[in-house]
Amino acid sequence: MSPELNHDFRSLGGRVALVTGAARGIGREIALRLAALGADVAVNDVPSAQEGAEETAAAIRELGRKSAVTLGSVANGDDAARMISEVEEALGGLDILVNNAGLTRDGLFVRMTEEDWDLVVDVSLKGSFLMSKAAARGMMKRRRGAIVNLSSVVGRRGNAGQANYSAAKAGLIGLTKTLARELASRNVRVNAVAPGYIQTEMTAALPEEVRGQIAGNTPLARLGEPSDVAEAVAFLAGDGAGFVTGVVLPVDGGLGI
Ligand code: NAD
Repeated sequence: MSPELNHDFRSLGGRVALVTGAARGIGREIALRLAALGADVAVNDVPSAQEGAEETAAAIRELGRKSAVTLGSVANGDDAARMISEVEEALGGLDILVNNAGLTRDGLFVRMTEEDWDLVVDVSLKGSFLMSKAAARGMMKRRRGAIVNLSSVVGRRGNAGQANYSAAKAGLIGLTKTLARELASRNVRVNAVAPGYIQTEMTAALPEEVRGQIAGNTPLARLGEPSDVAEAVAFLAGDGAGFVTGVVLPVDGGLGI
């Protein structure tokens, strides 16, 4: 029997993680999943979401892990650098970064404003660049790290009414693959998940009829749960994915086939 068979590849014991946009939704679920697998987990969100961020951190501590809250916008370079330093200081390093923060400002392309374009691209795409850049320095020095980006099925396929969001999510696929190539020699892996439609406040805004249509078009015939995404992120962040880098893992019930 190879000695590896005794190793629990799912365990994240001894690791420090940071999840952006973790005051609610998928980000909160990811933070709790990583903590349940043994990681100490820092929680980021914008200052206006402080209450939710503190609740996530309290739930992590209830699981017996350390946590810290770091507030600021991932789209701001000064905030990004400060937040990574705060986490490294509070929790003693940073092994796992999950770029989850994101938002939508949907509208038909011909009516989409420059502001709505900039906001969505700045948070999802530039935010992931800024946070990854700040985090990668320490990871490269320690020769250990995993970055997981939240793309989307609409980044792979496009979606009417989401020119800004689908472009940002497609951009994240390019960023993921390039960082995977650049950081591999320092043992830093970079991957993405591409969720389909997941039941969160982001998709609660869709009319019931549209949600029914989406489920109808999904081979597994339902919308996803935040836990479906969290499980995939935990896999990509852990030793079980030790030889996996530069992939975009669909978590969409088959919608993107
Ligand atoms: P959500 O709106 O419930 O949560 C997003 C969080 O990000 C919020 O807490 C928000 O305050 C935070 N955030 C926004 N701007 C930020 C900034 N500048 N800095 C830091 N935090 C910021 O959304 P969700 O449904 O949980 O989605 C989480 C991620 O998953 C997003 O990147 C989203 O695009 C992606 N995603 C969601 C779905 C879905 O169906 N819900 C599908 C595919 C991908």
